Amino acid sequence: MQSAKDTKSETTSGARLLEGAAIAKQIKQEVAQEVKQFWADHEVKPCLAAVRVGDDPASAVYVRNKIRACEEVGIRSEHHALPKSTNAIELLDLISSLNDRGDVDGILVQLPLPGEIEESTIIEAIDPEKDVDGFHPVSIGRLSMGQPTFVPCTPAGIVELLDRCGIPIAGANACVVGRSQIVGRPMAQLLLQRDATVTICHSRTRDLASVTRQADLLIVAIGRPGFVGREHIKPGATVIDVGMNKITDEATARGLFGAEADNRLEIISKRGYTLVGDVNPTEADQVAGRRTPVPGGVGLLTVAMLMRNTVRAARLRRGLSDR
Ligand code: NAP
Repeated sequence: MQSAKDTKSETTSGARLLEGAAIAKQIKQEVAQEVKQFWADHEVKPCLAAVRVGDDPASAVYVRNKIRACEEVGIRSEHHALPKSTNAIELLDLISSLNDRGDVDGILVQLPLPGEIEESTIIEAIDPEKDVDGFHPVSIGRLSMGQPTFVPCTPAGIVELLDRCGIPIAGANACVVGRSQIVGRPMAQLLLQRDATVTICHSRTRDLASVTRQADLLIVAIGRPGFVGREHIKPGATVIDVGMNKITDEATARGLFGAEADNRLEIISKRGYTLVGDVNPTEADQVAGRRTPVPGGVGLLTVAMLMRNTVRAARLRRGLSDR
């Protein structure tokens, strides 16, 4: 296995970059080995069914990346792309048939769904044994009780990153900014299980910076480009930037990327946008000990953990031990 040291690189101003890309690659290699072994033992490949409704371009890209990752690691995949006109009953019918099929191990419904479909109804219809996204209330309940379960892929990937980079969690002051069901809340639960002292912040937190500045581990998932700056970060802290935001204008890019803005401006001129996190990278690098870059940080880990959850579902559904 590649050592954690190999996955870190120095930024020009000092903070070490935690390269999620390299760790995601390691995880996918491990999953590919497991898939091979699974085939050798059972003559069947784990199977992930991805369901998408409508024509949201970002959702199409996310699903395509997940299908591509399945191909890379040898997992069989199905892509159910339903038209925007699909109603809740039709979608529930599809989920029910995927639940019943013995050859499908994992089901993921790409969010967001078109406005008329209640997301919670759809998520609750997924068999918890196939809930590889970890969004079903049964999975969430088990997680909050500290029981083994499918853990949402982004926070699970972050714990994996911290572990593989040798960053201690037990006893650390951890602050999670954002309390969404898919990132903030499960992240806080996982850190608590690993014996961190956890604070959760949100849009109504008073004097956010005074709270986040106490954190040895600062995890930010708010969806606001470059919002977290120097004043939010304790010197030497590890900063995990979950945000994935598109920016299109030169002034914002210059403000966030300082001396390295030219690269980003080139990307904007080619693609029309560049991806930035919720943390201002230039300011973070002046204070933080380590941080994850965007892109190349947390995002790739999410997909790698989905692969791992799918193999796990395939094992557990056949009564095999959890690994
Ligand atoms: P979300 O559901 O929109 O939740 C945002 C959270 O941030 C809410 O809890 C909100 O507080 C809080 N918040 C918003 N503005 C704030 C502020 N100024 N100060 C403090 N808290 C604030 O977002 P999400 O789905 O968790 O996603 C967050 C970001 O992560 C997005 O950029 C998303 O694209 C990205 N993301 C990345 C991955 C990945 O794989 N890398 C995966 C998922 C999400 P309230 O609860 O009070 O409204």
